[in-house]
Formats: sequence, C-alpha cells, structure tokens
Amino acid sequence: MATETTTNIQATGWEYSAAPERFPISIEETNKLFIDGKFISPKSRKWFATTNPATDEKLADIATAGAADVNAAVASAKKALPKWSKLAGSERAKYLYRIARRIQERAREFAVLETLDGGKPIKESRDVDIPLVAQHFFYCAGWADKLEYAFPGRNVQPIGVCAQIIPWNFPLMMAAWKLAPALACGNTCVLKPAETTSLTALRLAEVLQEVELPEGVVNIVTGAGDTGKYLAEHKAINKLAFTGSTHVGKMLMRNSAGTGKRLTLELGGKSANIIFADAAIDQAVEGIVSGIYFNQGHVCCAGSRLFVEEPILEEVIQKLTHRMKSLRVGDPMDKNTDVGAINSRSQLQTIEQYIKTGVAEGGQLHEANNQQLPSKGNWCNPCFFTDIQPSHTIAREEIFGPVLSVMTFRTPEEAISRANNTPYGLAAGVWTDKGSKVFEVAKRLEAGIIWCNSYNRFDAASPFGGFKESGFGREGGMQGLKPYVKLV
Ligand code: NAP
Ligand code: MG
Repeated sequence: MATETTTNIQATGWEYSAAPERFPISIEETNKLFIDGKFISPKSRKWFATTNPATDEKLADIATAGAADVNAAVASAKKALPKWSKLAGSERAKYLYRIARRIQERAREFAVLETLDGGKPIKESRDVDIPLVAQHFFYCAGWADKLEYAFPGRNVQPIGVCAQIIPWNFPLMMAAWKLAPALACGNTCVLKPAETTSLTALRLAEVLQEVELPEGVVNIVTGAGDTGKYLAEHKAINKLAFTGSTHVGKMLMRNSAGTGKRLTLELGGKSANIIFADAAIDQAVEGIVSGIYFNQGHVCCAGSRLFVEEPILEEVIQKLTHRMKSLRVGDPMDKNTDVGAINSRSQLQTIEQYIKTGVAEGGQLHEANNQQLPSKGNWCNPCFFTDIQPSHTIAREEIFGPVLSVMTFRTPEEAISRANNTPYGLAAGVWTDKGSKVFEVAKRLEAGIIWCNSYNRFDAASPFGGFKESGFGREGGMQGLKPYVKLV
C-alpha cells in the first residue's frame, strides 16, 4: 500500500503553510511473524488490524502469535543460542554495527512508518526516535568485545534466551533498548512489540535479514496481551525484560517468582519537575513543555507534576499558557506539528476520563483549545491544571497524556518531600541558577533519572530506569549490559 498524507492544521496566530512529509513507503497488506530468520504465517491463523491513529485508516493486517507460535519462536532462539553465544565479541559487534548503519540508511522510511502507525509527530520520529535507535546499536556494538572491561575481574557469560516485551510509546526505540545490549552480550531474543505499533519492529526484521544476522538470534512475535503472556510464562526463557504498565509489571513479577528467570521491569512514572524562583524562567517553561507535551505525554518519564516556587507562580502560568497555545496540534506527518495523535482510542478515553476527574475534584483546567483539530483520529489538546492538591487523582496517578498538574512549594525541603510523595520513582527535573541547590536537591530526590535545567534528554551512554514502583534494572550505558550477563 502506498501512503501519502495531507495536512489540515489550522492554528490561530501563526499560519504556516502545510509541510507534509512525502517520503513514499509501502506497507505489506499482511505482516507475518519473524521466526528463525523467516517471515511465516501464524499457526493460530489469526490476524489483527493496525490503524493510523491520526486518520483511523487501517494500515495493514498483522499476525497474532498464539501459544504454538510463541513456542516456535522460543525454540528457534534456543537453537541459535550455542553458536551465537560462542561467537567472538568482535564478530557479534560487526552484526550490530551493520544493523546500526542500515537503520541510518533507511532512517526516513522508519521515521515515516513509526509516525503512521503510532501517531507521533514526524519531527520526533525523524530527529529523536530513529537516531537514538541507531545510536543504541552503535553503542552496544562498541561493548560487545569489551565486556571484560565493563565487568573487570569477572567471567562474563550470556544469560540465554531473553523474552522482551515492549510498549507503544517509543516502539522502535524500545526494541533497540532491549535487543542491542542482549545481542552484544551473546543472548538470543524473542521480542513482542505492542499491539498498536508492531510495524517498525517487523521492518527491523527485514534489516536483520539484510545484515544476515544468524537465523533465530532474534525472533519477533506480534499480538496482544495474550501473546505477551504466553511469552512471559514460557518455561524455556532464561530472562524476561518488560517495559509497560506497573499493573502488568507486578503481575509478571508475581508469576516469575521462584522460576529462576531473571527479570527487569521498566514501568510507569509520575515524575516531578521542580522550578525554583532563581531559574531562567523562559528556559524552564520550554522544559515544562517538553516534559509533558513531548510525544503527547506518552512518555513514562513525563514531567507530569510541576512544582513551582510560589513567588514565580503567576509568571510561570502566564508564560506556560502562551507557550502551550503556540504548540501546533494535528497531522503528525506535517513537519511543523508539535503534538500528534493519541496512540489509540482507548488511551484517549483514559486521558479524557482523567481530565473529567481533575475538574470534578476541583482543579482549574487550562486548555490550548485554540486550534481546529482534524475531524478523524484521536486528539487531545495539551492542557494543565491549577488548584491541585497532592491528594487529587490526577496528581497521583499516571495519565500518559498531555495533562499537567501544577502545584507550588515554599522551601527546597517542601519541594523534595512533595516530589518524593509518590509510589513511583522514575525521573525528575530541577531548574535553578544555583549549582549547589541542584546537587543538594538531586541527591535527595528518589528518581532514577534527574535532569538539571533540562528535561527528556536521552543518550545511549546514559543509564535509564527507575526506583520504587517504576521498576528495576537499567537500560543504556554500561549499566544497561548488566541485566544481560551472568557474572561467574
Ligand atoms: P501494558 O499494557 O503494560 O503493555 C506493555 C506491553 O505488555 C505490550 O506489548 C502489551 O501487549 C504487553 N502485555 C499486556 N498484557 C500483558 C500480559 N498479561 N503479559 C505479558 N505482556 C502483556 O502497557 P501500555 O499501556 O501498552 O504502555 C504504557 C505503560 O508503559 C505506561 O504505564 C508507561 O509508564 C509504561 N512505560 C514505561 C517505560 C519505562 O521505561 N519505564 C517506557 C515506556 C512505557 P499489547 O500492547 O499488545 O496489549
Ligand atoms: Mg497503529
């Protein structure tokens, strides 16, 4: 199917000409499972549709992997393990370098496909997601023959067959975060992408064929939660790596207890962005905007709770309102778009329910409702709430949408205790002109990632992961190798 898009964004204030991304890509009508190096039809004989959340148009059919298909994928990974794990690290590195280079060569195609299937703005998939995917493969390729330096004095062994289950917010990036370190360390993998965003993972399988990665080293099984369940509960897997909701993460932890399977969980968050009165306010407002409106707020580390030092509240609100209203919401394929489509109808309903709850509990809603949204697809105007107390539902629960709760503090002590008052512990942001304040506050925040005078910055060399109910284990950096090795 050839796909081309048009734009129908109308913003008040600035009138941009439409700037649609026109790179032509083709999508197979039916997309099979990737097992043992080949694309094969599912034994289940079941298929499901994936749609473009910005238009509600069906993009393709995708295979549903049933229990027998998952068995075949795990068996294939198990068969490939002895040879792959004994291959010299320098040889494994060559495959990873080839994958990274091929992703760079096909970057535009990957970016367009990611945006069509998931709804994120093309400028994000083009400038953030896909470059980071290549970077992760490059970075891990560099470690493949240097594992004894990452773990000095230890005998480093692969764990074995890794089951990897990923969500829909950064589909290909999550696949790279999981596959690259696992392969660098000599493991074989079965990856399950999220139901709504499987297309880029399947296209990555084409790249794996192109670089002649040995058959069975990576297998990709598509499907919904049941496919994930078959995979997670499979007796022959040695490790389970999961990124997704805290609810499913807890279930997987209960189920894997006592089985001897290694487990890492990257789960939800309710991260705090703390703005001190001495911060550069314009920059901080940019940080607030990127913290919560980037990727429609579909970011596990989204800065969804804003704590502003009281004297600057009015100024921050005024500047934030102005900036929020200048964000362009609409066709994700338009290169000017800042906020794209919500990934699925059910996620949109969840977000809308939270907004209603916020109003019902007494919060004051400030919305960027100055733009005409497309008539089809899943859309949510960026918004924030004031008059919010820490006990309000929207200040406690993860929304996973462009909805910000604004609260205040009077002392650094109060900022720290309010920020830490959550069952989650994924990320935080601290904005201040004073270096000493940054260190003092950051030291006491219970969060895996802390940004200072910035937000939502990622790098393959930097570890990512949470505390408390945000999970355990790290992805990225040298620390990201550890979940994929046995140290004997
Ligand atoms: P989810 O329902 O937990 O889904 C995540 C993945 O698990 C999907 O592939 C899903 O398949 C699969 N799955 C669902 N039920 C399963 C089960 N019983 N057993 C095994 N696998 C199962 O989460 P989501 O709603 O898609 O994703 C959003 C959540 O992910 C948010 O809470 C967010 O905070 C979190 N997240 C965390 C990070 C991080 O790094 N900490 C990163 C991104 C997202 P289907 O999609 O096909 O149902
Ligand atoms: Mg889709």
